[in-house]
Amino acid sequence: MVIPVYCEEKGIELTLREVEKHLRMAASSWEIVVVDDGSSDGSWNRITSHAQQVPQLRALRLSRNFGKEAAVSAGLEAAQGQAVILMDGDMQHPPALLPTLIETWRTGEFDIVEAVKSSRGDESRLSALRAKLFYTILRTFSGHDLSGASDYKLLDQRVIAAYRTMQERNVFFRGMVSWMGFRTTRVPFHVEPRVAGDSGWSVFGLIRLAVVAVTSFSTAPCTSSRSSA
Ligand code: UDP
Ligand code: MG
Repeated sequence: MVIPVYCEEKGIELTLREVEKHLRMAASSWEIVVVDDGSSDGSWNRITSHAQQVPQLRALRLSRNFGKEAAVSAGLEAAQGQAVILMDGDMQHPPALLPTLIETWRTGEFDIVEAVKSSRGDESRLSALRAKLFYTILRTFSGHDLSGASDYKLLDQRVIAAYRTMQERNVFFRGMVSWMGFRTTRVPFHVEPRVAGDSGWSVFGLIRLAVVAVTSFSTAPCTSSRSSA
């Protein structure tokens, strides 16, 4: 498992306990890589004290807040499993889905098992609208339809190996996984409310991610500048 964490001191231990409960039942061997993305609250203390009771937990701490995408890349770099599951640390990605993701991968038919949002939970209308606009722009420019996609995914080690070779600095994880191809299947899930705290995304952070997503996954700006030259 890879779990990026930014200021989740109130909920991270509950998330970890739930994840561990399901992994114990679903897998004989497992590890959790928790990446603290420069949290300014007590997350790191909570994670490291929890790690003392759980030898399968490895805690990484980034030197500052780099943003979720960078934290995810750091976690995927460190993860060692035959398959890696990426999950948020705020319980919005239900740990109860873990056995389904693992069982689906074990059939051997798929390299990627994506959990897709069948509903967007208790999100405000404004942020649902923002997400819709973002995915419409991305689909128009890049042809990749990522609506409903989430970062809750299981990736086979073959996918992780390919991801590591990409050496991207400005990463948009969801887009890169879609772009790589591989045999993919989807499992629906209902987005739960956050267990505690607030979303770590700032408006600026979202705009920056949108710019990275559109410029990395589309040649549209380049094509239009050529045709006007
Ligand atoms: N996160 C992170 N770095 C950040 C912002 C968020 O590692 O700069 C983590 C956060 O702790 C959570 C996951 O990324 O585990 C998703 O973040 P959030 O819940 O804020 O996003 P949302 O659910 O609103 O998309
Ligand atoms: Mg969240």
